[in-house]
Amino acid sequence: MNFQLSEAQQNLVKEAREFALLEVAPYAAQWDQEEHIPRRQIKKLADAGYFGMTIPEEYGGRGLSAIDAILVIEEIARHCGISGRLIVDHNFGAAITILNFGTEEQRERVLPTICNGETLMSIGMTEPGAGSALTDLVTSATEDGGEYILNGKKHWITGAGEREYTLVYARFNGVAGTRGIGAILVHKDMPGFRYAGRIPSLGVRGVQEGILEFENLRAPKENLVVPPGSAFRRLMSAYNGQRVGASAVALGIAQGAFDFAKDYADKRRQFGKRITDFQAIQFKLADMAIDIEAARFLVYRAASNAGMAITNRYESSIAKVFASEMAIRVTNRAIQLCGAQGYSRGLPLERMFRDARCFTLAGGTAEMQRIGIAAGILGRKLPQD
Ligand SMILES: Cc1cc2nc3c(=O)[nH]c(=O)nc-3n(C[C@H](O)[C@H](O)[C@H](O)COP(=O)(O)OP(=O)(O)OC[C@H]3O[C@@H](n4cnc5c(N)ncnc54)[C@H](O)[C@@H]3O)c2cc1C
Repeated sequence: MNFQLSEAQQNLVKEAREFALLEVAPYAAQWDQEEHIPRRQIKKLADAGYFGMTIPEEYGGRGLSAIDAILVIEEIARHCGISGRLIVDHNFGAAITILNFGTEEQRERVLPTICNGETLMSIGMTEPGAGSALTDLVTSATEDGGEYILNGKKHWITGAGEREYTLVYARFNGVAGTRGIGAILVHKDMPGFRYAGRIPSLGVRGVQEGILEFENLRAPKENLVVPPGSAFRRLMSAYNGQRVGASAVALGIAQGAFDFAKDYADKRRQFGKRITDFQAIQFKLADMAIDIEAARFLVYRAASNAGMAITNRYESSIAKVFASEMAIRVTNRAIQLCGAQGYSRGLPLERMFRDARCFTLAGGTAEMQRIGIAAGILGRKLPQD
């Protein structure tokens, strides 16, 4: 077991730090306030080589490992959670599903444009009646000649209305249960694709969550990425990497809040002393550091053991639960350390606190992760298996 980063990884982190300080940190508050990150800024992430890090070079990526991508994501998220999430979405999730389970034609057609930031990609799983119980989804895909006709509604879709592609999880030809579920790629310019509005929410505001509706959308059969049958297991396995990516964003946000609060507290004077001279404050800092380090090892372990950016379910879920709950604790404590100033909009901590809040929900709730972890411990199947 080696706990040291390689020289190449240290360089990757150093470059990401420099990039973040120049291109991300100065604008993070503005993107949060305007609830929008401009496309040209997203393109800068791609131009810096941060999209498609996990994608092989033959498809326009960098052929790096999942842990390499995680190191970059953590570093960027220290300054801006939404930039971190954008990098996650274009290194794990739908891109990895296409890489591992799509056709060669799809890999050649779609992945290079993802890597260079020309097109962006969402995942369309959640429906009004199918959240944690994803297998209850009813969006239908019905075969008709060389096409599938899609009808249905997805909500809480990150990047809805802004991103070109959505990998839609649908029920094929009315087949009940997990065997009817597959995934098909749709483009926002396809007739029948409708962006039905934004869902205003607490944090990570620079990237919108929204509603998508499909009305007799005809997608060519060539866009079928994971055919129904045994697709659900494969779709979920590909999604584990997305969970580890989200955990890295939570970790980065927590580290950013910790760094800020530590510096602030070390300068702040009360009762004629620096407040960091009080042991109560020192213990807070120590507890925050313990929390962050523990999360870091869980996230790094899950990423290090990944093959083709697909991580182990048990390790991914443990990392996700701990990192997401840790980030809420740490950002909350960071506000407390800075007193009323920490609560003000003048400091980045309230943004970090709001941003951190999403990770026990997005990507599968902490409760559902615990159910999966328990199934692993007890050697039982999940209802979705
Ligand atoms: C910021 C954000 C981004 C998102 N991005 C996307 C996206 O890009 N694409 C996408 O498809 N979806 C996305 N989602 C949706 C997300 O995946 C769902 O919100 C999540 O799966 C939970 O579903 P739900 O909100 O319907 O909650 P529900 O399933 O209604 O759950 C409500 C509560 O009940 C608990 N619960 C449910 N079942 C059980 C059980 N069996 N045992 C114990 N507790 C249970 C849950 O843990 C939760 O606390 C996003 C959500 C957020 C907040």
